[in-house]
Amino acid sequence: MTQPIFEDRKDQIYVKGGAEPFEMACNRDSLAGAVSQRACVFCGSRVVLYPIADALHLVHGPIGCAAYTWDIRGAVSSGPELHRLSFSTDLRENDVVFGGEQKLYRALCELIDRHNPSGAFVYSTCIVGIIGDDMEAVCKRVSEEKGIPVIPVQSEGFKGNKREGYDAACKALMRLAGTAPTDDISPLSINLLGDFNLAGEIWVIRDYFKRMGVEVVANVTGDGRVADIRRSHGAALNVVQCSGATLPFAQLMEEEYGIPYIRVSYFGIEDMSQALYDVAKFFAEKDPEVMNRAKEVVSEEIKAIMPRIKELRKDLKGKKAAVYVGGAFKAFSLVKTFRHLGMQTAVVGSQTGTKEDYAELEAITDPGTIIVDDANPLELQAFIKEKDVDIFVGGVKERPIAHKLGVGFCDHNHERKECLEGFIGMVNFAEEVYRTAMSPVWRFVPRRAAQNKAVLESKNLDSACSLDAPEGCMKEGAL
Ligand code: SF4
Repeated sequence: MTQPIFEDRKDQIYVKGGAEPFEMACNRDSLAGAVSQRACVFCGSRVVLYPIADALHLVHGPIGCAAYTWDIRGAVSSGPELHRLSFSTDLRENDVVFGGEQKLYRALCELIDRHNPSGAFVYSTCIVGIIGDDMEAVCKRVSEEKGIPVIPVQSEGFKGNKREGYDAACKALMRLAGTAPTDDISPLSINLLGDFNLAGEIWVIRDYFKRMGVEVVANVTGDGRVADIRRSHGAALNVVQCSGATLPFAQLMEEEYGIPYIRVSYFGIEDMSQALYDVAKFFAEKDPEVMNRAKEVVSEEIKAIMPRIKELRKDLKGKKAAVYVGGAFKAFSLVKTFRHLGMQTAVVGSQTGTKEDYAELEAITDPGTIIVDDANPLELQAFIKEKDVDIFVGGVKERPIAHKLGVGFCDHNHERKECLEGFIGMVNFAEEVYRTAMSPVWRFVPRRAAQNKAVLESKNLDSACSLDAPEGCMKEGAL
């Protein structure tokens, strides 16, 4: 690694196969001044809860906090779409001086009367933590008056990192679970945790389980419903996707209701198949046929997608990728998926990975791979340039980094509109990587144009006709 790194960040960055032994520092507060890619506690809790489509989501704080809306991270619903509306108590100076409880009470009553939600979540923001509004008391009063669960989410932005936001959201979910009857739930039943249905993925996954004869009780939380989560304690197993967001909910459910959980990923052929097999294995005693049904699903799906994957792989072979995502579980799957496509992951990192996560990443990556925890834009930019990758996979905050560097980008998080999970998701992902990484436009970004020109000159070729572009485009800095 040749790029300068803040002294206090050096133990959060590692090059596989380098001189340093693998000892990754992670899961700690971001370094002040380093401008982490992470969001605040409030954003973390909102990411988890707001896909619950029939709930009212009210941000108690100044209007700026509410800017993180459905438009930034869409979660699709098969029914109600109340979650797409943003509500804020819009606290002003007067409220900060005299308290915002009355305003919160009035806002809740008005919104519940107007929208008739099945439940409400009230998010605490930094200023509410400072002025000390008693959200608990207001929510309890409104809940009694309106007859629906009204749940405070203790998500003051300053009290930690995004991971604390996940914890706050999971504690809020725990107040919903266990509040409705579970009589008619099948013995082969699961809750799906950690999928937010950004592009209809949860419908694909639910279909696989349905074909296996497994009932999904609650989606936590993509395309989620308050009533389903209230009876989620009746499921036999919690299936947790990704590592960060909803794992605390699974752990609390295990403590409180004795429901075991498994961790899975639905990205890529290997991990998707493994997820179905792991669930089948769990229920094998109750239903010896469930494993055969899982195998049938896997074999049918793989048969359908492999011809196209093989075709795309021919051209993608040897290309390089950088990956920076929220949870490390997704990073594992992406490393394996790129390998399936004949590509190498040269840079990989996450916002919230744990020591175990990074040990796993170290084990599955190739020598020379840069592994990073809680990166900032300057670091990511430096790593991408150093490794000269063909595509960067990340979320909404990583997109401008790729665009500014002239590197292909694939949104694997907030804004995507195409399902990337399941077997069909593998094809969609491969197609997107192909379209992006193989685009001829990258020849003309200044960095690549200079390289191309040097190669062509060394072969005595005319750049204009060889690259089918005006000569001016081949000059460094022309674009
Ligand atoms: S850090 Fe605080 S003020 Fe900023 S968005 Fe988060 S909750 Fe709001």
